[in-house]
Amino acid sequence: MTARQESIASLGEFGLIRELFAPLQTPGVPGVVLGIGDDAAVLTPARTQELVITTDTLVEGMHFAADMDPYLLGRKTLLVNLSDLAAMGATPHWALLSLALPPATALHWAKEFARGLGEACRTFSVALVGGDTVSTTHGGTVITLTLMGMAGQGRAMTRKGATPGDLICVTGTIGDSALGLAVRQGRLKAEGDDAVFLTDRHQLPSPRVALGVKLLDAAIVRACIDVSDGFAADLGHLCEASGVAAEVDADRMPYSPAARRQLTRHGPEWESTLLSGGEDYELIFAMTEGAMEFLTPLCEETKTPVTVVGRFIEAATGEPRVRIRRGGELLRFSQEGWRHF
Ligand code: ADP
Ligand code: MG
Repeated sequence: MTARQESIASLGEFGLIRELFAPLQTPGVPGVVLGIGDDAAVLTPARTQELVITTDTLVEGMHFAADMDPYLLGRKTLLVNLSDLAAMGATPHWALLSLALPPATALHWAKEFARGLGEACRTFSVALVGGDTVSTTHGGTVITLTLMGMAGQGRAMTRKGATPGDLICVTGTIGDSALGLAVRQGRLKAEGDDAVFLTDRHQLPSPRVALGVKLLDAAIVRACIDVSDGFAADLGHLCEASGVAAEVDADRMPYSPAARRQLTRHGPEWESTLLSGGEDYELIFAMTEGAMEFLTPLCEETKTPVTVVGRFIEAATGEPRVRIRRGGELLRFSQEGWRHF
């Protein structure tokens, strides 16, 4: 057997934990009394703070392809959870990792996964404090990461609070990830640099943690959500929680140059994919026009572009929650976003 073919059985459950996951206890993360190695971890949340906690499960064949680079998958596993904490404005600290692995999983795969996860943990000062490692005979790999962070008491940003008249703000660019997935699946033929850019955006999100924390501190955001199910769907979720509707100007949508080139080359019908595709891991938030002067320096400090794409309005019965127009004309797109069931 070559080193590449060797399976995780060669290390065993405890070898995997000791050699691959115990090293991911990033030093210097506050509040870790006891990490990996006992029956449970012991943490001390800061006294004036609240615990903000989220979990995400990635299923082979559903959330990632079997041939996805395990190093990128390791990074993405933390990044998608960080995006949820960013939407709440929380500072991330501690993670738990549950892995269900087929016994034939290559050791190389596990090492690369741990290397990617470790890199993301160090980048965002997150300590892995525990988890569970089991084998599965029911098919593919299942990865669950639970991420905990802190926010000042009563300060976490939520989906509720957008008010008619508020601006609809969006970070970064929307739709790259959905196009990147289409490229990987062979449904879209993008060229050279564009193909690389779009697939990178799909495989490696940039969670807006730094801006999220600053938005919470500045207390200028009335409601916030991260875009995982699709721009239109997640804007809809925020509207529903806030009891408002949204009026978006399609011409103000932040599409990347690479995404715009695909619209030109492959047809404007791809805009529906941009608006409803999902996995952007950008933030949508509501803010008054008057808060704009406070937002601008935060965007500069965190190098996060923010675009105003429209306004929240009163909800009206029988009208869609999210209206995206171009020159007065209502765009048609799938507003449902991703749903498992
Ligand atoms: P128990 O059987 O008491 O639940 P385990 O033997 O499953 O404990 O785990 C031993 C230790 O290793 C615990 O601290 C647990 O949190 C940690 N651990 C297990 N799997 C992982 C993993 N994939 N990543 C990080 N820590 C893990
Ligand atoms: Mg035990």
